[in-house]
Amino acid sequence: DRPRLALLGLGAMGGALARAWLAAGRSLTVWNRTPGRAEPFAAAGARVAGTPAEAVAAGDLVVACLLDDASVGEALSGADLAGKDLVNLTTGTPAQARARAEWAVRRGARFLDGGIMAVPPMVGVPESGGYAFYSGSRALFDAHHDTLTVPFGAVYTGEDPGFAALHDVALLSAMTGMFAGVAHAFALIRKESLAPSGLAPLLVGWLTAMAPHAYQIAAHLESGDYTEGVASNLAMMVEGNATLRRTAEEQGVGAELLAPFMALMERRLADGHGDEGTTGVVDLLTR
Ligand code: NDP
Repeated sequence: DRPRLALLGLGAMGGALARAWLAAGRSLTVWNRTPGRAEPFAAAGARVAGTPAEAVAAGDLVVACLLDDASVGEALSGADLAGKDLVNLTTGTPAQARARAEWAVRRGARFLDGGIMAVPPMVGVPESGGYAFYSGSRALFDAHHDTLTVPFGAVYTGEDPGFAALHDVALLSAMTGMFAGVAHAFALIRKESLAPSGLAPLLVGWLTAMAPHAYQIAAHLESGDYTEGVASNLAMMVEGNATLRRTAEEQGVGAELLAPFMALMERRLADGHGDEGTTGVVDLLTR
């Protein structure tokens, strides 16, 4: 009772999905806008559809992994989705996922949105820890759990179809801040006789040690007491910011990646919250 799978999109991620399902012996029909990209998959046992509508007709479970939400709408515009299970693994915003869910349900499909927390080399490699967030139809998620967990793990976040994208983007946003900090750190040592390869393991160790700070912020947001368990208070940290800025200046490094976060810390301190940690910044950001 394995579903017939149809996959739209054979880019870096779609191609990795196709390889994982084929390696697991799944029946797979693929479609890609540029037909040449489908050839290696045909050789590996996939059926190749000439149009998205043809691919959809050949599948019970239809997975889209295209560039963006607009390409999903475009590709599926002529397809008959009645009675199909549609899983959208294309990255988008929560609002796009909610609109796409309504769109799919109007066409008679069950809909599940997904946000992939993996890069292509992690696909089909369970020990890599890759997974996808899913939201939308719980019935679809449960019915196809075995198939969905072939390429990577699956974490269901709720019936609201926007929740997978929201979790995906929350994690990617935090990663963006981390990458900014790492770029600044390497810039600081750039002109010195210090090897970047010496700093890298120190950065990894420190960031890993500091990451559980997220638990304290969560506890603060839930209790409303932003001072609970604070070991490094805002007043002290704002003093420290001056040292970070001066060191950047001494090293000839722009502090523009640090400046916006520091400005918010300073605003919160000026509002009289020197005994908190950094949780109050969340309040300042929430407009
Ligand atoms: P690629 O750029 O490698 O592939 C894009 C795919 O979308 C190709 O199959 C391309 O077809 C197709 N496409 C683009 N525009 C259209 C259109 N208008 N109509 C039909 N098909 C179209 O991207 P990825 O495979 O890497 O990414 C796919 C999705 O997966 C994205 O939403 C991405 O955010 C997400 N993702 C990717 C990750 C990664 O590390 N790669 C990680 C996590 C999520 P064609 O071959 O004809 O150009």
